Amino acid sequence: MKYINEFRDGKTAHTLAGAIAREVQPERRYHIMEFCGGHTHAISRYGLSDLLPASIRLIHGPGCPVCVLPIGRIDNAIDLALNRGVILATYGDCLRVPASGGLSLLKAKAGVGNMRADVRMVYSSADALKLAQDNPEREVVFFAIGFETTTPPTAVVIQQAEKLGLGNFTVFCNHVLTPAAIANILESPEVRLHGTVPLDAFIGPAHVSTVIGSQPYEHFAEEYEKPVVIAGFEPLDVMQAILMLVRQLNEGRAEVENEFSRAVTREGNVKAQNLVAEVFELRKSFEWRGLNEVPYSALRIKAKYAAFDAERRYGIEYKSVADNKACECGAILRGLKRPQDCKIFGTVCTPENPMGSCMVSSEGACAAHYTYGRYKDAVAG
Ligand code: SF4
Repeated sequence: MKYINEFRDGKTAHTLAGAIAREVQPERRYHIMEFCGGHTHAISRYGLSDLLPASIRLIHGPGCPVCVLPIGRIDNAIDLALNRGVILATYGDCLRVPASGGLSLLKAKAGVGNMRADVRMVYSSADALKLAQDNPEREVVFFAIGFETTTPPTAVVIQQAEKLGLGNFTVFCNHVLTPAAIANILESPEVRLHGTVPLDAFIGPAHVSTVIGSQPYEHFAEEYEKPVVIAGFEPLDVMQAILMLVRQLNEGRAEVENEFSRAVTREGNVKAQNLVAEVFELRKSFEWRGLNEVPYSALRIKAKYAAFDAERRYGIEYKSVADNKACECGAILRGLKRPQDCKIFGTVCTPENPMGSCMVSSEGACAAHYTYGRYKDAVAG
């Protein structure tokens, strides 16, 4: 297959659904976590759950970069933009994530009292660098978030800023790592001890895996005996991955298989990995929304590039902040609850007025369910 429409073909999806239905064993249940928000979005958008037998349960994972950003980090970004006089550049989804005191970057931009934050939405790290070049009299901070997919472009602009001798550009680095989060889920008491989150297998990330390759997941297959199938973000990719996982589980295998072979290799993008290793190093610990502190799960800028590190330049201190009590994002990100389990889903909390991070990005479980799945709750109710 060559064109995107072919990966969305309904007839083929039904053929795959038929194959899955034939392969599932009647007495067995299959609990499959899709780690990535991209898969969550595809599953909701194309109604893939409706094509699957009732014995297959898809569990949303924490792989939405905006969703896992804790409130304290957004507070830090707002503080930079409101109180330090910088231009804060970041991706669009970050603007609406709720922070402390009912604030968000968007609200700070609109004004708090007589103060107005200079927050700019950018499409890429390169846009943020250009802002610094175009505004030499201003300090520009790039609020960098995301998994391994967005980390190499951040490394590139840090190196470019050094080459250009840009003294007014820094990066507030919040890049996080997929394998550490998967390990954290597998080690969590809900999975390991209590069985409150039964987890049999993973649909492995698409874009992240183009960078890190399939090799890092081998640990989960070997040590935890959990099958992983790396899948693209199109609906047929997901259906094919589910079929491959059902087969592995039926046959008692726990292997890493690669459905997304048109883009992912075992080694991944070595050039990008080397670039990241040159600019960043592991943090000892990083707070994730929903997962709490996760050891060695995020990156910070190496001392060699300290001149471009906003945390060093502005002495940013991180303070953990509790989530809104009514919001169930934490439990949803750990696979414990579903969006419709939240009492304020679709009423107080909507994409126009998000109360939690999972309602912000289209990759968030709540936003995906609100946009594509909530009518089913009404029918069921
Ligand atoms: S519906 Fe809103 S408040 Fe509830 S869990 Fe989702 S994001 Fe949080």
